[in-house]
Amino acid sequence: MAKICLCLTGKTLARDLEILAKYRKYADIAELRVDCLEPDERLMIRRFPEQAGLPVILTIRRKADGGFYSGGEGARINLLSRGLAFAEADRRRNFAYVDIEEDLNVPSLEEAARTFGTRIIRSCHDINGAEGNLAEKIQSLCHAGDEMAKMAVTPRSLADVIRIVQAAGETADIEKVVLGMGRFGMITRILAERIGSRLSYASPSGEKDIPPAAPGQIDVRELAELYRFREIGLSTKIYGVTGYPLTVSDSPRFFNAVFAMENTNAVYVPVPADSAASLVSLAEELGFSGLSVTVPYKEAILPMLAHRSAETVAIGACNTIVNSGGLWTGFNTDARGFSDSLLDFSGLKNLKRRRVTIIGAGGAARAVAFEIHRLGGRALILNRTVVRARDLASVYKFRWGGLDSQGLAAMGNYSDIIINTTPAGMEGSAERDPLPSYVFHGREQVMDLVYRPEVTPLLQRALAAGCRIKNGRDMLIRQACFQYAAFMGKELSGQLVSRVVF
Ligand code: NAP
Repeated sequence: MAKICLCLTGKTLARDLEILAKYRKYADIAELRVDCLEPDERLMIRRFPEQAGLPVILTIRRKADGGFYSGGEGARINLLSRGLAFAEADRRRNFAYVDIEEDLNVPSLEEAARTFGTRIIRSCHDINGAEGNLAEKIQSLCHAGDEMAKMAVTPRSLADVIRIVQAAGETADIEKVVLGMGRFGMITRILAERIGSRLSYASPSGEKDIPPAAPGQIDVRELAELYRFREIGLSTKIYGVTGYPLTVSDSPRFFNAVFAMENTNAVYVPVPADSAASLVSLAEELGFSGLSVTVPYKEAILPMLAHRSAETVAIGACNTIVNSGGLWTGFNTDARGFSDSLLDFSGLKNLKRRRVTIIGAGGAARAVAFEIHRLGGRALILNRTVVRARDLASVYKFRWGGLDSQGLAAMGNYSDIIINTTPAGMEGSAERDPLPSYVFHGREQVMDLVYRPEVTPLLQRALAAGCRIKNGRDMLIRQACFQYAAFMGKELSGQLVSRVVF
């Protein structure tokens, strides 16, 4: 089974031991990153394994390999030797592993390690990319049969991640650690067991003085608890959410909490993707059962689908894809998630005689416009790119305009309900309010599909003017319940949903 390796990047050994004590239950093994220690502390590493009380990897990572060590090679070799010196017959008192880079050839060091059972991890790191034939790279890494290979590269695209996964598969007979660093590589860390990687390195994210040991590392507690890393096996069903940049998504918390509560052997992972086509290729390579699709791929995913639900066809956007025997079927659960949430919020049974402004004309807006039309409402669609507003509005004979003075003027007749379907106002988004010049009169009901922060700048202004407001969290949960039904072929019990904490 793949193991979780807690990276210890404190400045002192005492601090590393504190971190270890605090996060011990999430880790199977630890990596002492000597390169992060202050110079005096580096001289006292020898007794660390017995103090740690779990297997420890001795690592002194050079800057060129993504570490912090900037001294000379001779001094680094001396430090490594110091860590392996005075080895004891009781192996628990020695380092369990020593990480030696592929280009470091010091026979005395290797001999010292082997004599008392310290295994060599023969590593290579590419902090800039994932070039070349990766399978050949893994095959050529180890200098002797008793070593474990480690290849850490930096995928620049999802296509690179596919190459990493394939290289891991092609070298199934080699005992190894294979991982992708950075945003795109995250999935190789969560699904280490599935790609045949023996370790997944993780850091504690909440400790200000403990830097992540490498870009893209997942919080150790999240890896163990949220993703239930230790329970992921060959029969675990894989689901996920995709989009770009995918910085804000509560879906992994929701689905993983549900899977844990009902003891389902499944995991739900974030998959930042640089194109819809490479997303589908990766999903097939890793055997995904289904995915939630978010910004900006709700329309781009359509050509990849073998089947589309009637709603997906009518709406022209898809937020859920399900893999049935290698063929993908697309659904749209935003639509019903949105309208159920809106009707609950407004206390209405339908939208007859209601006039609605929809801000935005992207994938979510398509579902919103479809439902407003279905419920008998009339709408004005305002969008930054006016032609998209026009195209969407023409489907339902709605009015359209830009986010400008003319658009604002038109809103006078469409202000019973205002719905923001753009990401403006979302945590991390540069633009904070999609309609800063609109003055609320206090009678509008305002819904924002964004749910983080809880009260967006648009909702704040509406609230201050006396409007009733609602964010997108309830919609998220409702559409996720429909997604669950599409993924699992059964309804999610309301009782369970009410108990989900995420
Ligand atoms: P999308 O297909 O990429 O469309 C984005 C829309 O927002 C486009 O109309 C775009 O205008 C507009 N836009 C983007 N940035 C803008 C800005 N800074 N100012 C003004 N307009 C801007 O994305 P989507 O899938 O529709 O998702 C949109 C938002 O809805 C996201 O924040 C998403 O998280 C949220 N959402 C929430 C739920 C939920 O369950 N609560 C469900 C679905 C979506 P252009 O056409 O000019 O590019």
